[in-house]
Amino acid sequence: MKKLVVILFFIVMTEGVGFAEEPYWAEHGIKLDGLTPAQTTVLEETINSIGNLPPKKVAINTAIYIRLSRFQRLYGFSFEGKTIKNWILRRVKSITHQNTWTVAVNDSQGDFKIGDRFFEKADFMERAYTLIHEARHSDGDGYSHVRCPESFRYVSAGSPDIDLIAVEACDDRGDGAYGFQSAFLFELYARDIANQQEAGLLYNGSVARIVGNKKE
Ligand SMILES: [Zn+2]
Repeated sequence: MKKLVVILFFIVMTEGVGFAEEPYWAEHGIKLDGLTPAQTTVLEETINSIGNLPPKKVAINTAIYIRLSRFQRLYGFSFEGKTIKNWILRRVKSITHQNTWTVAVNDSQGDFKIGDRFFEKADFMERAYTLIHEARHSDGDGYSHVRCPESFRYVSAGSPDIDLIAVEACDDRGDGAYGFQSAFLFELYARDIANQQEAGLLYNGSVARIVGNKKE
């Protein structure tokens, strides 16, 4: 009985606080705020799975790979999970559970606000590229987005309520958040890591958001 009381007390204490297990939060001085234990687990599983992405050999036509791969050029290192994980963690100051107009935002150089969709609907690939996307907003001047052009014909597959020509959801440069997101997805596709077809479709959707070619 005493044991049960202790367990119940523990559950009450951790409810809504998030019980971070992984040492990297403290190592990087990252504050988690308002995440339930389940959300913390989803977040940690995502970070850990990114860290475990293998640097598999390129499995597509070499000419296509050479023409379209941007990873090494943008990130400054070759594709490998552990390095990507640390690249992300270095760009995070805090992670708060908060629903905003989109799945996640980082509008203050490292303070991530992540909404329900990330934890409840998104699969690993979507969560992984979202963290990469937001991490890129911590660099330089934040690499803010521009409004998608009036002629834009693409939709937001994940957030059908968003009209992409009404919001700043495009980049006019190749080295912004969509550039990094696309480069990551392209490697998953080219190296046949996880689901190749999904990676290819997500890559196409991401690269479509780059409407200019500054600093390709
Ligand atoms: Zn963004």
